[in-house]
Amino acid sequence: MIVKTPEQKKAVKQGMLSNVMRQFDNAADIIGLNANIRKILEVTNNELVVHFPVRMDNGEVEIFTGYRVQHNNSLGPYKGGLRYHPTVDIDAARALAMWMTWKTSLAGLPYGGAKGGIQLDPTKYSDEELQRITRRFTYALGDNIGPELDIPAPDVNTNPQTMAWILDTYMSTKSPAERSTNMHVVTGKPIGAGGSQGRDRATGYGVFLNIKFWAENKNIDLKDKRFIVQGFGNVGFWAAYFLEKEGASMVAVQDAYGSIINEEGISVDDLLAYTKANKGSIMGFSNAETLDNADFFGLDCDICIPAALGNVITSTNAPKIKAYLIAEGANGPTDVEAEEILLKRGVTILPDILCNSGGVIGSYFEWLQNRNGEIWQLDEVLEKLEKKLKESFTKVIETSAKREIDMRTAAFIIAIERLEETYVQRGIFP
Ligand code: NAD
Repeated sequence: MIVKTPEQKKAVKQGMLSNVMRQFDNAADIIGLNANIRKILEVTNNELVVHFPVRMDNGEVEIFTGYRVQHNNSLGPYKGGLRYHPTVDIDAARALAMWMTWKTSLAGLPYGGAKGGIQLDPTKYSDEELQRITRRFTYALGDNIGPELDIPAPDVNTNPQTMAWILDTYMSTKSPAERSTNMHVVTGKPIGAGGSQGRDRATGYGVFLNIKFWAENKNIDLKDKRFIVQGFGNVGFWAAYFLEKEGASMVAVQDAYGSIINEEGISVDDLLAYTKANKGSIMGFSNAETLDNADFFGLDCDICIPAALGNVITSTNAPKIKAYLIAEGANGPTDVEAEEILLKRGVTILPDILCNSGGVIGSYFEWLQNRNGEIWQLDEVLEKLEKKLKESFTKVIETSAKREIDMRTAAFIIAIERLEETYVQRGIFP
């Protein structure tokens, strides 16, 4: 594990909230956002903190703290992931919930933004304990989540199995007649438990598609391009998988345990097979050498994909970055100071609210299928996903060119203008 001092951890958490607010302010200033609507969007609607007891395998009881922050639901039910990580707290949940509002708005979905999770290190608990923690957390959230109210999904250290436990717990609290109408209380479920084909790869595939759209726009061939990936979980793996299929080469990977490098390329499938047999860690993979974590972002490559945590690209490592394209698989990986440095140096950033929006679009498809009693095939899901992502990408690149601004600011402007229109048309109750 990469150990951070308490000061570093605090900086990461505070940084995420101040970053999202600064990104919002920047875009709101440019469009002259209506001052009253600005007041509404600057705050979160609801914030829930729950403390709940869970019996551990050794018979002792441990108390856990869980969060769910609901930022805004003017466009539809709240939507956003649940994260299990030591850095989860109210500020992190606020920041991530806000990003979800901009992301769903940009993607043209009928959703608002939320985020949450539990402050814990999941590597310290058995699967049985994680199941009890998840079920008890779901019970504590009660009817603050719901298929037409707030729909969680997987995030860091949560997965389809976690979603299946949430679904089962939530459904079990409903009357028999209502149970099957609650299938869409979470997305990212396993296929057998009401999940959708393609949801597993939706985020990483979306990251890849955004890179591809950008490369096509710039007449760049992705074949033989070198990329590095931070985070080899759901997002990092699938983004790497599709890039490798396109002929690009993964030269370095970093995860929570360390970094590895092979200038000749690391096989994405081989590394996945290795991590599955090695408790999720990339360390010790035979066809690569160990690299110092501090050298990772400065490696010689064309494309850099941060797909782990927030605030990892900072003013310290931004000047060293050699990639000309940063594709943000993670939420909030680049802080505002780093972005200024990178943009001045001519580096393009495909912003998180666009680049990783394939995940929430895939979740929307799962939600629709559950709601309508439909089951779509994989090719149908991927085709619809590509169409939606292309629409968003085109809007962002065109706004960026028209207004002569970076892609993040363009993406924020599109997202905020949609919300502004909704408030202007509906007015404020009463
Ligand atoms: P995951 O739990 O599947 O994988 C996380 C990966 O990050 C793991 O390989 C882990 O080892 C690595 N990691 C953790 N701490 C690290 C550290 N300090 N340094 C380097 N690597 C570290 O999570 P995921 O679902 O792939 O999510 C990754 C990022 O993508 C998060 O920021 C998440 O919010 C964002 N995201 C996920 C989805 C989704 O559908 N899962 C959608 C949109 C955005």
